[in-house]
Amino acid sequence: MRYISTRGKAPALNFEDVLLAGLASDGGLYVPENLPRFSVEEIASWAGLPYHELAFRVMRPFVAGSISDADFKAILKDTYAGFAHSAVAPLKQLDANEWVLELFHGPTLAFKDFALQLLGRLLDHVLQKRGERVVIMGATSGDTGSAAIEGCKACDNVDIFIMHPHNRVSAVQRRQMTTILGDNIHNIAIEGNFDDCQEMVKASFADQGFLKGTRLVAVNSINWARIMAQIVYYFHAALQLGGPARSIAFSVPTGNFGDIFAGYLARNMGLPISQLIVATNRNDILHRFMSGNRYDKDTLHPSLSPSMDIMVSSNFERLLFDLHGRNGLAVAELLDGFKASGKLSVEEDRWTEARKLFDSLAVDDEATCATIAEVYKATGEVLDPHTAIGVRAARDCRRHLATPMVILGTAHPVKFPEAVEKAGVTAPQLPAHLADLHEREERCTVLANDLKVVQQFVSAQGNRGKPL
Ligand SMILES: *Cc1c(COP(=O)(O)O)cnc(C)c1O
Repeated sequence: MRYISTRGKAPALNFEDVLLAGLASDGGLYVPENLPRFSVEEIASWAGLPYHELAFRVMRPFVAGSISDADFKAILKDTYAGFAHSAVAPLKQLDANEWVLELFHGPTLAFKDFALQLLGRLLDHVLQKRGERVVIMGATSGDTGSAAIEGCKACDNVDIFIMHPHNRVSAVQRRQMTTILGDNIHNIAIEGNFDDCQEMVKASFADQGFLKGTRLVAVNSINWARIMAQIVYYFHAALQLGGPARSIAFSVPTGNFGDIFAGYLARNMGLPISQLIVATNRNDILHRFMSGNRYDKDTLHPSLSPSMDIMVSSNFERLLFDLHGRNGLAVAELLDGFKASGKLSVEEDRWTEARKLFDSLAVDDEATCATIAEVYKATGEVLDPHTAIGVRAARDCRRHLATPMVILGTAHPVKFPEAVEKAGVTAPQLPAHLADLHEREERCTVLANDLKVVQQFVSAQGNRGKPL
């Protein structure tokens, strides 16, 4: 499989190189040159497969030529064996023809484990083969950091540095990162905000001299391998609910557009998905595009669903590429305009094309809490605020009552007790594997909000705690 850039100028790469690449050299994102397509008969033949075996069939074409079938099978079996539910991604019915796909049974209790557990193993496999070591740098305001650290903690060839804003993440979220101990794991609390952390990651990618030749790898959602891993659970859910013989609709709590873009790809690979609902919080740039063709940058509004607090959606570029007939130069021009003006809209017929599949809703904090309370009263289920936004959007935007509606359950409610309590619901207990989280030893270094200081730290510690 070959991968091309959404901006049309960077060279095509194979899977292995895309895995180790961040942005393409022209500033674009990598996408498959040709998407695999499965027949209805082939998809139907996968019914009842264990999750890791389904994952092998769905993802095999994407890694072809880089990873052998036997190696890929073993990696996938190991990846999903650590999930706390034996179904890996179980469906829970909330109402007539309405289900939550529970994607929070991985080690850090959010859907990001599906991709990052796999990413860490793929990196280690490829680096072992090449005899190379890499450094990962990432910034987090919550879920990504812990999922990335959990995914990479066993990697022999990776040192991971995750920055979070000092005293500005919840205690559960901080402890999920800082209590994972290992000489290749480096938690940094920056005396600044999340944007400061992200700027330092960006600046480090732009000027890598301090790494003395060691490669720097990205683990944010622009990494193609993360999108790829998320395609699988759309197939998994549909197969449980009578697909591919009938169509399924999905509602997806959305921030950077990675998770829902995977659903869009599943449909283009042959899965009959009749509707995809973009569910956002008050940070609603995607809702403004879907409802009125205006992708205009706004300020950041902190919310009770912080994992969806974004100003721009990095993976939206991948959809724009398809909407423009995969013309990379047209996409580059559009995004140059956006960079200059903070505004973007597309030609009417392209927007209409997108709206055949996508609907959207923006849900504020008040409606989020009301939905948590509504679902609790009706079913006894406690939703996390992100999933609650997905439920609200599913109920308000649904096109056909006869089509099964699946809401992606992106996080466990225990991670977001503030919203749950505001809804008047008692927050649940930490699951067994995290029950002693608040007693565990933490390891974290507080550093000044200063690029030089951070880069010196990385270069002094980047080889399992020794200098690069
Ligand atoms: C990351 C995250 C999202 C948003 O996913 P995107 O792929 O960025 O759209 C939604 N909910 C939770 C709990 C998350 O951690």
